[in-house]
Amino acid sequence: MKKEDCIFCRIAAGDIPSETVYEDDDYRAILDLGPASRGHTLILPKEHFRDVTELSAHYAAGILPVAAKIGEAMKKALSCDGFNLVQNNGEAAGQTVMHFHMHVIPRYNSETAPIAAWEPHKADPEELKQIREQLAAAIE
Ligand code: 5GP
Ligand code: ZN
Repeated sequence: MKKEDCIFCRIAAGDIPSETVYEDDDYRAILDLGPASRGHTLILPKEHFRDVTELSAHYAAGILPVAAKIGEAMKKALSCDGFNLVQNNGEAAGQTVMHFHMHVIPRYNSETAPIAAWEPHKADPEELKQIREQLAAAIE
C-alpha cells in the first residue's frame, strides 16, 4: 500500500493532524477518535505494516516499551487503575485500519464493562492434543 492511500501513514507522518501524546523516530501515539474509555491511545509505527505478521523485528521490539511508558503515564495523569493492550489482526479480528497499531486502553475501577469479552467453551482434552500437534508443527 502507498503511504498516500493509508490514513495512519499520513497521521504518523504528521500530514494529518492528530492529538499526539507521544512521538519518537519510530512511533507516533495518538488519541483514538472513537475511544473505548477516557484516554484511549493508539501507537502507530511510522513505517507501513499491514499487521503483526508483517511488522519488522525492529518495530516489534520497540513497541512494548512505548506501550508501557504510555500506560504508566495514563496511571499518573488520568488516574486510571489499569490498562489493556489490544492489537487486532485481520477483519475477522476487528481490524478496521490496515496499518498495524496497538491500542492502549485505560481502565477505571468505576467502569466495569469489559473491553473485549468471550464466552469460554469447555475444552476437550483430545481436541487440545490435536490442535497442539497441528499448531506446533506449523510454527516456523
Ligand atoms: P482497529 O479496529 O483497526 O484495531 O482500530 C482502529 C481504531 O482507529 C478505532 O478504534 C478507531 O476509532 C480509530 N480511528 C480510525 N480512524 C481514525 C482517525 O482518523 N484518527 C484517530 N485518531 N483514530 C482513528
Ligand atoms: Zn500505513
